[in-house]
Amino acid sequence: MKRAEQVTFGGSGLNRAAHLRGDAAALAAARAHPKAACLLLWRGKPLVQGERLDRLSLVPMTHPLVQSGPGGAADGPVLLGLAQDEAPLFAADISAWQPEGQDLSGLGNFVDPTEQQHPDLPASHVFAELRRIMSRLSPRDAELAASAKAVIGWHETHRFCARCGAQSEMVQAGWQRSCPTCGGQHFPRTDPVVIMLITHGDSVLMGRSPGWPEGMYSLLAGFVEPGETLEAAVRREVMEEAGVRVGQVDYLASQPWPFPASLMFGCAGKALSRDIRIDPVEIEDALWVGKGEMMQVFAGEHPNLLPARKGAIAHFLLQNWLADTLD
Ligand SMILES: [Zn+2]
Repeated sequence: MKRAEQVTFGGSGLNRAAHLRGDAAALAAARAHPKAACLLLWRGKPLVQGERLDRLSLVPMTHPLVQSGPGGAADGPVLLGLAQDEAPLFAADISAWQPEGQDLSGLGNFVDPTEQQHPDLPASHVFAELRRIMSRLSPRDAELAASAKAVIGWHETHRFCARCGAQSEMVQAGWQRSCPTCGGQHFPRTDPVVIMLITHGDSVLMGRSPGWPEGMYSLLAGFVEPGETLEAAVRREVMEEAGVRVGQVDYLASQPWPFPASLMFGCAGKALSRDIRIDPVEIEDALWVGKGEMMQVFAGEHPNLLPARKGAIAHFLLQNWLADTLD
């Protein structure tokens, strides 16, 4: 798909500077670089600025908050890569900060509209939930935010060795953890998920999960299982959830989805049958939506259906299906 990388989090060709990760002297020099900067995250929320909160806010490495370290005081900041002017870019987690007198009611919710302002940072710079602002960021800022959120989230939940249970140590500038007790090496996880545009003639298969806002339907999706190809995962998920048989499957586009650590594989699949038989444990409803009707949905003029969330790959694939630009 020619437009594949135009999806939100589609990447900006960031130079991840992997050669610096294991080189202690080079890493120290990168941290001391006069232009080195750090993205701060607080409980998964990146620091952003601007009237529309459409830009990341990076602080100098000398800022006292950078010293906190992600996932624990012993860990240093994670090296994200090099900016175009070679300035090293890092990410640090300051989740230990306990805000006082601020709205924390949205924390952990699917949609968190609250913003938090740290007293040691400019008043216009706030921590905001990435899902809320993702489609406003530049491709570079989106890649930095997605990478930082995913890798810091991994450190937070993988502090102990999965082989022996001992506390592990962050190495490789944040891109690996190693176990001093058994020598186990652990790498940041990315969980593959297939999300599929299943068509039959001029219609697309849409489904909804229990608990979604009324009228919200999206493309079917599911985790790829060990030992399974993307194609097999597409066919299995669609059969399990909607009872529809799928023939040919083609890969379209991928999207890093740091909620918390997925990689979405957008696929197209041709349905061989049209009858729907849903699994009520997995989904609440599924239906075929014609192209004309989907155009109404996207225009916000459909009486019952809401469009997929902007920024999500489902929205991107449907939009390209409508525009006939899936090739
Ligand atoms: Zn171990």
